[in-house]
Amino acid sequence: MKKIIIAVDGFAATGKSTVAKKIAAALHYIYIDTGAMYRAVTYYVQKQNSTEDIDVAQLIDSLPNVNIHFENGEHGQQIFLNGINVTNEIRESKVNNVVSKIASVEAVRNFLVAQQRSMGKERGIIMDGRDIGTVVFPEAECKFFLTASPEIRAERRHKEQLEKGNLESFEAVLENIIARDHQDSTRSINPLRKADDAIEIEVSTLTIDEVYRLMMDKIQSIV
Ligand code: C5P
Repeated sequence: MKKIIIAVDGFAATGKSTVAKKIAAALHYIYIDTGAMYRAVTYYVQKQNSTEDIDVAQLIDSLPNVNIHFENGEHGQQIFLNGINVTNEIRESKVNNVVSKIASVEAVRNFLVAQQRSMGKERGIIMDGRDIGTVVFPEAECKFFLTASPEIRAERRHKEQLEKGNLESFEAVLENIIARDHQDSTRSINPLRKADDAIEIEVSTLTIDEVYRLMMDKIQSIV
């Protein structure tokens, strides 16, 4: 079977990572959650700065000190920032509220995109994010773009967070999703955009298994 690159882009909380992980497991592919990388940089910046204000010049200077790697553990894929497991910390609302701002800094994007490209050198990879099909791997053989209404996405994310013990209100989750979508789609560097050759899937009325099946059928017609 030929090893390809699969790009999964789309709005926040469309289930990209859940379905991408499932596909990676079925195909024995590497799975990379690029959102987790932007979140890890954000967490790093927040640890460095005691105030809410972010010093962009200082952030750019400190990027060489940011070391991110993934490991597959008993509880699924874990992300490490300078050797420390930050998988849970990067999902906190403090990070949610600032990550899109950090992700709009050109130097941050260049820093992470270079690492993402190098992870895909051997192919056999499925990567999810916002700019995978447009910027990171424009040559990917298979591209998907997932969409759903903000309310449906917020409902799913809210439920997921409640299960993890995060008591944020539905309104706060919805507000964050709308704000991130707006910032991600309107930033000047590599905005969230569907690649011309990506297959768009509206997931609002579909289960994860149905989305998985649609995507796998397409992938299997290529590999
Ligand atoms: O995928 P997730 O929602 O965890 O991503 C968090 C944030 O990281 C996004 O809202 C976006 O601002 C940024 N991001 C990005 N480019 C990517 C992946 C994520 O700008 N490829």
